[in-house]
Amino acid sequence: MIVSSQTRSFGLFINNEWVESVGGESQEIINPANGKVIADIQRGTEEDTRAAVEAARRAFDKGEWPKLSPAARAEFIMKLARLLEERLRAFGEAELQNTGKPSKQVFDYDVAYTIDNLKFFAGASRVIEGVSAGEYVSEGTSILRREPVGVVGAITPWNYPLMMVGWRAIPAIAAGNTVVVKPASYTPVTTLMLAEAVKEIGLPKGVFNVVTGSGKIVGEELARNQDVDMIAFTGSNEVGRTISNISSGTVKRLSMELGGKAPFIVFDDADLDAATEGAVVGAFINNGQDCSAAARIYVHESIYDKFKKYYIEKVKKIKVGDPTVQTNDLGPLISEEQLGRVRKYVEIGRKEGNIVLDESEEMDSFEGFFIKPVVIETDNNKARIVQEEIFGPVPVIIKFKTYQEVIEKANDVSYGLGSSVWTKDVRKAMMASRDLRFGTVWINDHAPIPSEMPWSPMKRSGFGASTSKYSLEEFTTLKHVYVDLTGNVRKSWYYQIYGENR
Ligand code: NAP
Ligand code: MG
Repeated sequence: MIVSSQTRSFGLFINNEWVESVGGESQEIINPANGKVIADIQRGTEEDTRAAVEAARRAFDKGEWPKLSPAARAEFIMKLARLLEERLRAFGEAELQNTGKPSKQVFDYDVAYTIDNLKFFAGASRVIEGVSAGEYVSEGTSILRREPVGVVGAITPWNYPLMMVGWRAIPAIAAGNTVVVKPASYTPVTTLMLAEAVKEIGLPKGVFNVVTGSGKIVGEELARNQDVDMIAFTGSNEVGRTISNISSGTVKRLSMELGGKAPFIVFDDADLDAATEGAVVGAFINNGQDCSAAARIYVHESIYDKFKKYYIEKVKKIKVGDPTVQTNDLGPLISEEQLGRVRKYVEIGRKEGNIVLDESEEMDSFEGFFIKPVVIETDNNKARIVQEEIFGPVPVIIKFKTYQEVIEKANDVSYGLGSSVWTKDVRKAMMASRDLRFGTVWINDHAPIPSEMPWSPMKRSGFGASTSKYSLEEFTTLKHVYVDLTGNVRKSWYYQIYGENR
């Protein structure tokens, strides 16, 4: 039996028990800032995954969880939120070590925001609603029930490890489902710590299970498994497609939050200070490893040169380095693989545009997967650096002339997640918020997602909603209950089968 947060050695969490993988394989988890081992986890197998699904199935079909009152379930989620609050430092430190995010981000944002998400889902789950009951046919009363979907497989990415469990697994259980969570292989630590908290608050057995291991093994088994009713996936388009294909034979519900390539549009009347400031945080928060990163900065030609000058000045001030040092703004990328991918895109950018800022070579003295910001300009909207998700600190700036042109260019990508518009003109802002095919349009800011509002993708960024009451609704299914009001043996429409005098 393996447990313990002190030694950072974790088992699989199935049916509220910590167990070893039947395959007997474990894996070391490293800190991307220095390459040091921070934890040892189990490499789950298909059999382990099936065991977790069985536990979740049992808890759903035979357990009390789906039948508990919303208030009782909300109380558990609230307890979890409070425990997270008490352990904010421990969770923040673990997230920092596992992801290399700077301390101000993990404490003030990732963990704090997750706590807020949990509190929101706890409260909102008590007011999940349908339409009112009524007589839609004169002889009977119709009632709409919203019920949980069943067993949910929640598959999460490495860029916001704890937060994505908060988005994909917590609303699921708040709505009465049971879950099997498969965290990203690079970043399972805070998900496993959440499982410890789940055990401590006494959540009923089998409601929240965690199986670590590879996506190809654990994730695909969840997609394939007949006893899984829904997959809530956040990750890349490629894996989203694989999950769709594998799960199609089993007819399960899918919620897909995939990649993004957010436009950041600066009109000629924008407050230049505000826009350059916003473009710095928008592009570099989480080191650009963000599905809504301001990756394509469109600037009106009349202010282009000025914007570029201010922007570069501000970007140069970003401090990249050891994420435990308070004054540092950015840590490393998550992995060597990701660093290689970002470097490859910088090389592509060299051919497709002009590199206007490149300090990426200056980081050689560091041990971890560090890279400094790179800013590229191009006039080719079809360039790969404009169309594809780089997922690193490499924004692209592009000049535009007219409203129509910039909206067309902004929409001309396969993605449709986040976008922003910078202007003092209300009419222009409202027109753009109508014309942009993105699930979120920020005006004079870029990134806030209050727990109450849906994070909802368009186009190839997926479908469904994370956060908000709409996310809770996704984890429910509709049931129509019809009650006869006549008390008659033979209702008025039965003549369809019975003759007049029979
Ligand atoms: P990823 O490679 O797609 O992995 C996501 C999850 O899927 C991981 O847990 C991964 O496990 C698992 N997985 C991998 N192959 C699988 C398979 N064949 N079947 C089932 N599951 C499989 O994504 P990532 O690199 O972790 O995260 C970055 C991506 O997430 C970006 O594209 C980003 O835009 C997107 N993202 C979207 C949102 C949103 O709200 N729309 C939010 C955050 C991130 P392993 O780790 O074991 O491979
Ligand atoms: Mg991956």
